[in-house]
Amino acid sequence: MTAFDLVIQNGKIVTAGETLDADLAIQGGKIQAIGKNLSGHKVLNAAGLLVLPGAIDPHVHLQMPAGATTSSDNWQTGTTAAALGGTTTVIDFIEPLENQSLIEAFEERKAQADSQVVIDYALHMTLSSIIPERMAELPEVIRAGMTSFKTYTTYDGLKLTDEAFLKMFRRVSETGGLVMVHAENDAMCGFATRELLAQGQYGPEAHPRSRPASAESEAIERVLAMAGLTGTPTYIVHISTAQGVAALSRAQARGQLAFGETCPQYLLLTDREYSRPDFEGAKFVCAPPLRKETDNAFLWDALSQNTIQTIGTDHCPFFFKGQKDLGKDCFTHIPGGIPGIESRLALMYTYGVVSGKLTLNQWVDRCCTKPAELFGLYPQKGTLMPGADADIVLFDPHQERVLSHQILHENVDYTPYEGLVLKGYPITTLLRGELLAEKGVMYAEPGNGKYLKCNLPRFEQLS
Ligand SMILES: [Zn+2]
Repeated sequence: MTAFDLVIQNGKIVTAGETLDADLAIQGGKIQAIGKNLSGHKVLNAAGLLVLPGAIDPHVHLQMPAGATTSSDNWQTGTTAAALGGTTTVIDFIEPLENQSLIEAFEERKAQADSQVVIDYALHMTLSSIIPERMAELPEVIRAGMTSFKTYTTYDGLKLTDEAFLKMFRRVSETGGLVMVHAENDAMCGFATRELLAQGQYGPEAHPRSRPASAESEAIERVLAMAGLTGTPTYIVHISTAQGVAALSRAQARGQLAFGETCPQYLLLTDREYSRPDFEGAKFVCAPPLRKETDNAFLWDALSQNTIQTIGTDHCPFFFKGQKDLGKDCFTHIPGGIPGIESRLALMYTYGVVSGKLTLNQWVDRCCTKPAELFGLYPQKGTLMPGADADIVLFDPHQERVLSHQILHENVDYTPYEGLVLKGYPITTLLRGELLAEKGVMYAEPGNGKYLKCNLPRFEQLS
């Protein structure tokens, strides 16, 4: 009988499609076999543990310039925290400067990441301009491995007009790529913000009212109507409201390829956080803002019904002391974004699986498999099957921990989930068959991660 490089024995293997008690064999960094009584030169005993595909975070912002400051996790600290939380691939963004070619911006961003990353990574390309020179670059961008294009309905310098959206949708359709949209009605947010400021409301507690729920649902409805006209596959990032889910669901009912992402913060937290004393509400300032408990519940239902396909984090950390306080005098100057790259898998297990809102397989599907499928990384990533990269998490479903800033490795001085009780935690993470991280210790060197070229997504194969 062959002995493999490494065999993970006696674990419970969990994929999007099945759960089985079996051994898993690794050879040359790839999964080679799944079955009973496999033997290896090295053995990991996973008795009592869940064996999952390495998680994929489809939405992170490492080392991202944001006005006067930069998100506080660089590629090294951010991917280290990800690995310790069971994530083996992140997908970050390229934001080309005005007048910069998309390919040049890609090469700069990749050069910045390559020497630092400890896990694998891919990139989405942001389109904030649709001038002919940029649109002409799309085939080359796709060949270089970016098949998803991020767009905005809000923010000066990023937002596209309806006319530009239609042209962009048409061009991306012709290439076979996927459009991602940050959907909030810019005029509604601007109007609400100006009224609050005119009333002298400058604190973080005004933030949720400055970006109302109706601004999100209006933008999702409109963007998906336009995508329907051009037949363009579209992915709405960080959906935060029940009304936003309803708009997505209507597009799906019309037969569109319309997909959705939500994040732990929109499932677990509410806008009551903004009323904390001593400016602490600033720790929760992100866009879209945290909403109501009814929205949390609706989003959980949408995840379990597959109306929403993925859980990303939108990890975009800023120190409370030294960065968030740029907005001490006015909430509009608080850098927008919160940390979460490390805690996603554990939070979604406790509050999704243990609480009965998601099945084990749905948990793996939304955190690992669907992100790989939608962004063209499947089946190299996102599943456990012979031939796939041996990116594997051993997850202890019995380990209880209290989530706190002290146990995390994100380069930031707080976690928005401080004090939440976790029932289950990732203990060992392998990347391409090598031990990456275990029990809070990182074993890989910076530069260990690889840039992944995304293929065009194949929607007809989606489970
Ligand atoms: Zn984001």
